[in-house]
Amino acid sequence: MAKNPYDILGVQKDASPEDIKKAYRNLSKELHPDKHKGDKAAETRFKEVNEAYEVLSNPEKKRMYDQFGSSAGPGGAGGQGGFGGFDFSQYANNADFADLFENFFGGQGGRRGQREERGADREVEATIALQEVLTGAKHTVRLRRLNACDTCKGSGAEPGSKVITCTDCGGTGQVVRTAQSFFGTVQQRVVCQRCHGSGQVPEKACTKCRGEGRIAEDSSFIVDIPAGIEDGQTLRLRGEGDAGRRKSTAGDLYVHIHVTQDPRFERDGADIRSEVSVPVLDAILGKEITIETVHGKISLKVPEGTQPDQVFRIKGKGLPLLNTSRTGDHYVTANVIVPTKLSRSERKILEEWKKIRD
Ligand code: ZN
Repeated sequence: MAKNPYDILGVQKDASPEDIKKAYRNLSKELHPDKHKGDKAAETRFKEVNEAYEVLSNPEKKRMYDQFGSSAGPGGAGGQGGFGGFDFSQYANNADFADLFENFFGGQGGRRGQREERGADREVEATIALQEVLTGAKHTVRLRRLNACDTCKGSGAEPGSKVITCTDCGGTGQVVRTAQSFFGTVQQRVVCQRCHGSGQVPEKACTKCRGEGRIAEDSSFIVDIPAGIEDGQTLRLRGEGDAGRRKSTAGDLYVHIHVTQDPRFERDGADIRSEVSVPVLDAILGKEITIETVHGKISLKVPEGTQPDQVFRIKGKGLPLLNTSRTGDHYVTANVIVPTKLSRSERKILEEWKKIRD
């Protein structure tokens, strides 16, 4: 019977990451060694479950598994069939299951090669004020990253020297290696260590970057943060991560946005909510009052007979809605203030008034 990580966790191939996590949690709780002392079968199952989760919880490993499992078998695998007959619980004790896949796929279609060549993705955080959400902000981001070497212009070759075909791999970017695996002796195509898969090497390496074509530098540049952005959103700036090795694709920069809170306002998407104190007599008689919005101070006519917690909507005085021309509204709640103490004359007047009302 074929064992695959999906069967082990009892989930469908298209299960969501949440479902996979849930299945794993339930099984690992159920099979926990503390509950099954001396039970070999449970122990094995527990290991299997952990191994399976390690593969399926990691997008990269999962993708490799999915691809491997659905193909007839990887090229260069010594003619082995698919994954179907492989019981990986035997393997679980020996080594890292997923590493094996990575070794296996080392030379396949240059995937590994591309991954090594491409610059790394980077992440930074940027904090902006709520006010800046209104107009968008130009925010200076600072990070130490790999930039293209300016001496060799990223080629890795000393100025004046050429880039030549790699002699280790003959320009293919891959070399064949014989390795032992659980499949027996296999021939693997792996990325050439000398040229890192590009098939080309500098004749004379650039002395500044040692032939890498990139160099670590403190970098700062301005990021345009769009109006209407929300706390917790992330911007992806293509090519602003680490430079790739010798002119290959640069990584991306992810900018995680934090919007600081303003104690006067509560944000609800593009809408803003606030409270305003209204003395009880103003609520009764009506009054023009001043309220604060993210657009500044504006006047609001509180009508006669305003009720406690009555909400007034001020159209268009909220925040812009990201990537649209629409703007949210401002909702202000009237917090009607009743005096806690009355003077004798106030009391007298109010009692008079009460008589009329009664
Ligand atoms: Zn250089």
